[in-house]
Amino acid sequence: MNKKGFNEHSKRFLFGEQPAGLYIHIPFCLKKCPYCDFYSITDASFHPAFLNALSTEMRLNRGVDLVFDTLYVGGGTPSVFNEKSIDRIVETARRSFKILPGAEITLEVNPGTVTLEKLKGYRRAGVNRINIGVQSFNSVNLGFLGRIHSGRDADLAVKWAQSAGYKNIGLDLICGIPDQTTASWLRDLQAAVELGPQHLSCYILSFEPGTPMDRERKKERFKPLSEGRVCDLFETTVKFLSEHGYVQYEISNFARENIGGSGLKNAGENRSRHNTKYWTFTPYLGLGPSAHSFIEPERFWNHADVGKYMQDLARGKLPQAEKESLSLDQLMTEAVYLGLRQTRGIFFDAFDEKFGVSFRGMFGEIMAGLEEKGLMECSQGRCALTSKGMLALDSIAALFI
Ligand code: SF4
Repeated sequence: MNKKGFNEHSKRFLFGEQPAGLYIHIPFCLKKCPYCDFYSITDASFHPAFLNALSTEMRLNRGVDLVFDTLYVGGGTPSVFNEKSIDRIVETARRSFKILPGAEITLEVNPGTVTLEKLKGYRRAGVNRINIGVQSFNSVNLGFLGRIHSGRDADLAVKWAQSAGYKNIGLDLICGIPDQTTASWLRDLQAAVELGPQHLSCYILSFEPGTPMDRERKKERFKPLSEGRVCDLFETTVKFLSEHGYVQYEISNFARENIGGSGLKNAGENRSRHNTKYWTFTPYLGLGPSAHSFIEPERFWNHADVGKYMQDLARGKLPQAEKESLSLDQLMTEAVYLGLRQTRGIFFDAFDEKFGVSFRGMFGEIMAGLEEKGLMECSQGRCALTSKGMLALDSIAALFI
């Protein structure tokens, strides 16, 4: 990207000052799913030492100059921990950081690891949002994905979360599984919306290098769905969910519309407040093995290794693996990529103000070309990808570099 025109006031790229997000990575699962490339191990003997190390990491970060309005405990499978351990994590976070009243506190759970009692206990610990890794309600799909739970377990987990009193529940689903038909995917979507969650994340199955599933794919043990079929499923998702009151606000994320007292529909409050920070250049601090942080202009991340993580902390040292400082060029590239992921798109004024450039002046021709192909929609103040465009996000973002 052209650096010309950057000016001094373009130090921070915030669409309005937002409180930061705190992420805690729990690096444990009961069993590794073959498609997953998130860092986690299955050895439960590390649990107690890890909890101590995490408390140390929080204490060492106590001085950080950030105010948080979200805490997201993800993984891995945080629900391998009981209520007491989650309570300890939330409590230590509250004591170590400035967490605002009314903060969104999310816990990721795997349906194969929860009970009604456990969910109630998490709520008492201060968790007010539950994100459930359902992935599918179909047993053949769940078998292919190597999940530890059944569709019935997933259904029960959602119902238990509701009876435990959670008013903000998100479900993760995966589409693009080999042999998946539109009818079978629609059955998953239907089962999900019937449960009435506030939020849905629909991810397309990807074959990440180094995962067992990718190795199986290379050996041609199964045939991935064609790109065309995956596109059809994605378009089916957007259409079906919008017909059922779920508004797409990011490429994979949908929030349920609430009807307010005035009769107006609004999906804003059901969006993931925490994840939105990742897409809007808001600072976030990540703790736990492999967790990433971003405090403009720096990005840094922890060792993706529980042993190294605990060793560093035992010596009173932050378990940082690497740190990089993003140039304005890199920030601008990132801003385009993150903006295009969201249905609200890129606001020209905010972009221009941040970087001291004219977005329309720089990219007018590219935008016109994309509009002509039905991949982008532009209005006076902003541009955003269409559903078709979102499927080609990476190649479209590359045009802006
Ligand atoms: S449970 Fe979640 S984090 Fe653990 S291996 Fe499976 S997909 Fe990955």
